[in-house]
Amino acid sequence: MAPAEKAESDRPGEFALIEEIFAPLAAGSAGAFALRDDAALYRMEEGCETVLTVDAIVAGIHFLPDDPAESVARKLLRVSLSDLAAKGAVPKGYLLVTAWADDTTFDWIKRFAAGLAGDQKRYGVSLWGGDTVKTPGPLTLSLTAIGEVPIGGMIPRGGARPGDDLYVTGTLGDAALGLEVLKGRLSGLGRDEASWLVQRYREPEPRCSLGPRLRGLAHAALDVSDGLLADLGHICEVSGTGARIEKDKLPLSAAAQMALRQDGELFPLIAGGGDDYEILFAAPPEKGNEIEAAAGEASVRVTKIGRVTGPNEGVTLVDGAGRAIPLKQLGYSHF
Ligand code: ADP
Ligand code: MG
Repeated sequence: MAPAEKAESDRPGEFALIEEIFAPLAAGSAGAFALRDDAALYRMEEGCETVLTVDAIVAGIHFLPDDPAESVARKLLRVSLSDLAAKGAVPKGYLLVTAWADDTTFDWIKRFAAGLAGDQKRYGVSLWGGDTVKTPGPLTLSLTAIGEVPIGGMIPRGGARPGDDLYVTGTLGDAALGLEVLKGRLSGLGRDEASWLVQRYREPEPRCSLGPRLRGLAHAALDVSDGLLADLGHICEVSGTGARIEKDKLPLSAAAQMALRQDGELFPLIAGGGDDYEILFAAPPEKGNEIEAAAGEASVRVTKIGRVTGPNEGVTLVDGAGRAIPLKQLGYSHF
């Protein structure tokens, strides 16, 4: 890494940086005023309300200082888009706070902006504004994403009812396994599997095509960021229900299956590892066909993994024979 003064001097001043690097990302929205005003204007569609979510990431804690800048940008944006998707919202725009560290180079910032530019096209959002500061500490980034739902249409965490089916999108545990790969573990995997898992860790895929289609179908939803069991616990706590999920039904990627075949002790990472950014949702059984159809239209895999149970039944994971697997054994002391 370049010495601090050199890196610092290599970076244009705040205003030049905004004009050169960030204003082009705001070009798609008239209300962003090319980032030349104090605030942005945004007019909601008639009959809609706004859904807001914010996340912050710190170098060395939420991403690795040598992660590619483009990936850091995509992860920053996508974790917030994932929150919007889980709420059934259509993403519209975002605000960005950048706290550059002494050693953040101009090249890094350019690559970071390029990562954002690609994802703006992919997800149909644009930059509406932000703030720029310097920090004596590690590089810190915060992003606020703004989306819309028809009034009353946001899918809450707290709406699950006993008897609802539980579904999850995509596959589980890939990101947690990808982080293991980055830590130099799982050396028995093939190169392709290992790099695919790392990709799943670095660049989650928010299920924006599915989220809005779940409005009116799902009673409750959230995106899995703390791990399936912990996040299922959140739905149950807020909804006042229990849940029972079947170990054999958890959707696994080919790479995760290979890792598990090599080491069965990795299972807790599948059920408990974080960073999946898949949508976990509860829906009544009579909506099953519509959910299948929505998943098909959105081109997102959806798997039924269990059922919502009564308030006193807690969260249980059962094996193929229907026997409860003690969650304490998986390292979940709080269950
Ligand atoms: P203020 O003094 O009102 O905080 P600034 O001078 O910080 O305004 O910002 C000027 C413009 O640049 C505003 O439109 C603001 O939204 C935008 N802006 C500043 N930093 C960023 C950033 N990191 N990303 C996107 N827009 C930014
Ligand atoms: Mg400012």
